[in-house]
Amino acid sequence: MLQSFLHLFYPHACEGCGQELSSTEKILCISCSLQLPATGFQKIADNPAEKKFWGRVPMQHAMAGYYFYKQGVLQNLIHSFKYKKREDVAIFLGRQLGLLLRESAWWKEITALVPVPLHAAKARHRGYNQAALLAEGMAGVLECNVWADGLKRTAFSETQTRKSRTDRWTNVENIFAWNRHELKSSPHLLVVDDVMTTGATLEACAQAVLQAGNNVKVSACALACAA
Ligand SMILES: [Zn+2]
Repeated sequence: MLQSFLHLFYPHACEGCGQELSSTEKILCISCSLQLPATGFQKIADNPAEKKFWGRVPMQHAMAGYYFYKQGVLQNLIHSFKYKKREDVAIFLGRQLGLLLRESAWWKEITALVPVPLHAAKARHRGYNQAALLAEGMAGVLECNVWADGLKRTAFSETQTRKSRTDRWTNVENIFAWNRHELKSSPHLLVVDDVMTTGATLEACAQAVLQAGNNVKVSACALACAA
């Protein structure tokens, strides 16, 4: 009875279909979770996410967990953590992404997760960096650290939404920098972002991560990529 009483104030409805969630389900019901368009990239060497970085940056591995479609459950979920302050949704999806990554042959190589930093003005407006929340959710299942301050933005970059492919590449060049001490060990850092389009942002972040020390290795992981 207490639970049904609490549900009046904290309704636990599936973000996908609106059905009431069971006590073991969070954010999405099992049925909607299974319908998320998983890429399977974590099990494929030379997958489409890795190919984006060929000839650009020595990326050890790259993957995106899901395909991003203009409509659908995943698009709604991404919208809710980007614009509706649903931090719990970002952490939930980070966890799902971490579970996918655990199916890869390389997840145990990762030393720490480095989220793509948000521009300070955007972070202030939103109240959080969604990539850092995704990384937090991932870290729970990958048993590694999150270095949320690993990278910083050095300059303002305009929103990329309406830019052409070439514009996007020049736009993000040199806008990230390593923000921690020089790394003497040989860590393998995983840069985390929400959506990968051209790969330009992750590429620029990887370049900055490689400035952290001589023996640093870098990989990239996005929640979603364009289908
Ligand atoms: Zn559902």
